Amino acid sequence: TLTDLRCIGCGAEIQTLDKTVLGYTPKSALEKGLETGELYCQRCFRLRHYNEIADVNISDDAFLKLLTEVGNTNSLVVNVIDIFDFNGSVIPGLHRFVADNDVLLVGNKRDILPKSVKESKVRNWLRERAHEEGLRPVDVVLASAYNKDDIADLMDEIEHYRAGRDVYVVGVTNVGKSTLINAIIKNATGDSDVITTSRFPGTTLDKIEIPLDDGSFIIDTPGIIHRHQMAHFVGKNDLKLVSPKKEIKPKTYQLNSGQTLFMGGLARFDYIKGDKQGFTGFFDNNLNIHRTKLAGADEFYAKHAGGLLVPPYEDELESFPKLVRKEFSLKEKTDVVFSGLGWIRVVEDAVIAAWVPEGVDVLIRKALI
Ligand code: GDP
Repeated sequence: TLTDLRCIGCGAEIQTLDKTVLGYTPKSALEKGLETGELYCQRCFRLRHYNEIADVNISDDAFLKLLTEVGNTNSLVVNVIDIFDFNGSVIPGLHRFVADNDVLLVGNKRDILPKSVKESKVRNWLRERAHEEGLRPVDVVLASAYNKDDIADLMDEIEHYRAGRDVYVVGVTNVGKSTLINAIIKNATGDSDVITTSRFPGTTLDKIEIPLDDGSFIIDTPGIIHRHQMAHFVGKNDLKLVSPKKEIKPKTYQLNSGQTLFMGGLARFDYIKGDKQGFTGFFDNNLNIHRTKLAGADEFYAKHAGGLLVPPYEDELESFPKLVRKEFSLKEKTDVVFSGLGWIRVVEDAVIAAWVPEGVDVLIRKALI
């Protein structure tokens, strides 16, 4: 049994079965580690030798325990979210766990936003959403994990707000937390090794510490899976459609009422009532958008999902949730947001219906542009 073996880096129980779970160690590395007495899990090994954080997920229970521990510290909590998917980024009840600690909200993946989007608007919007969740961040920062200047600015902000305290970075999976932390490590250390000693022998707090100049740390925590993310409903090869890599180029469609747009087979937009007008879609540039008549749209979907309307592909249809419908009557310039996929801007008065896979959010907000 491996139950007594722990990683000397993070303290996680060593296991050789599941790569995506904490403590994973390949069998060969386990043998070698036992021989030399230096047993690291793969995550810590990679950090030591490649300065790279790997993704790990932990169970909801373990995550709650971890958040509780964070709440008991005196630290700055950095909550990384995906600007493109606020709802899929929320850590339920975070404000209760962080207690009196300051929270810095970091909206990641800023590079995807079209240049025409005003950043102050996005930041205000994020702040309002955070308030709705009961979270009162000390500040909201937008960043791209791929942009060196953003990383440098973010580190300045963190330095400012942490005021000598440790920094805990928290986030659900897929928001880009590891990419962001890896960029921070690069910036902070160049190519030198990050962990030099075994810091938590025998603890189960699954965290990784990045030393800062003054003896405090940036601490990476594992994420939890947010099951409502669109990312969980598309195959591996289509993840790029829900996590665009490039600035989105908006596309406008002139629609009469009685027309429907399909976003692949992932989502649907019905124009029910109103004058002819232009609807602008903000989606990954490669997402295939198909226009058809509202009257026959149900049959159209039944016939073409997995074929003309992809993703999901034929072999994914069975496990793909059915699309569910939500109707909105719009009176001002509004974005209809398909959580994690993108949004459609509506300018004139309109009655519309938005369809998303059951479990994914659809919402409206004052137009960002
Ligand atoms: P984690 O699960 O939160 O650690 O997320 P990852 O770091 O694994 O990132 C999830 C996905 O988002 C990956 O496909 C990344 O390449 C992508 N990603 C991360 N940061 C950014 C960013 O700033 N911009 C863009 N466009 N994509 C990002």
